[in-house]
Amino acid sequence: MQGFFRSIYDWLLRMFWYVGARASSRSSGGRCVRATEMDVTMVGLQNAGKSSLLRVLAGGEFTVDSIPTIGFNTKRVQKGHVTLKCWDLGGQPRFRPMWERYCRGVNAIVYIVDAADRQSLTASTDELRDLVSKPTLEGIPLLVLGNKSDLPDVLSVDELIDAMELKSITKREVSCYGISAKEETNLDAVLRWLIARSNR
Ligand code: GDP
Ligand code: MG
Repeated sequence: MQGFFRSIYDWLLRMFWYVGARASSRSSGGRCVRATEMDVTMVGLQNAGKSSLLRVLAGGEFTVDSIPTIGFNTKRVQKGHVTLKCWDLGGQPRFRPMWERYCRGVNAIVYIVDAADRQSLTASTDELRDLVSKPTLEGIPLLVLGNKSDLPDVLSVDELIDAMELKSITKREVSCYGISAKEETNLDAVLRWLIARSNR
């Protein structure tokens, strides 16, 4: 009897696969498209805007008061046939030792900085240096985002590159963009950069 239910279950699974594959090939104009998943880890000090950015990328609303992330928060962001599996890691000092573990083997690391908070820039730079010095993370592409570009007196991208000495980071691809999670500025460029790093 158990075998009977098992074969019905297998048949149903096959049907779902078939219907799903037909739907995806129709939506892509008849071409069969392979879905791609990629892992992205978002790190940075507390208050940089990681959770806000992830919420907005996933299609949610920006909110002014956001609750500090305890541990981590995860979301899937679907863009075309690419699914970004994003880990947003807590930025308080007690969570920083776990950044390296969650960055291992990912397609890209996104490091978020509050570009309006000059006081925390040294701490943010030190944490980034520490992270990229880990041998386990060698070669993983790094995207540094200067967030909160909507605020007055923010650091420009060039200033951020200089202040964080990003040009001295070697053995990996490094890019830096200015964004605003609040005003959704430059988020398309962020998604394009990420998707271009998937293993398609
Ligand atoms: P996290 O600790 O890195 O996850 O940071 P949150 O996403 O919790 O954001 C911290 C604070 O910064 C919250 O009050 C957000 O509303 C605010 N914030 C995040 N992104 C932006 C932005 O682009 N512009 C402005 N003005 N505020 C932002
Ligand atoms: Mg958070």
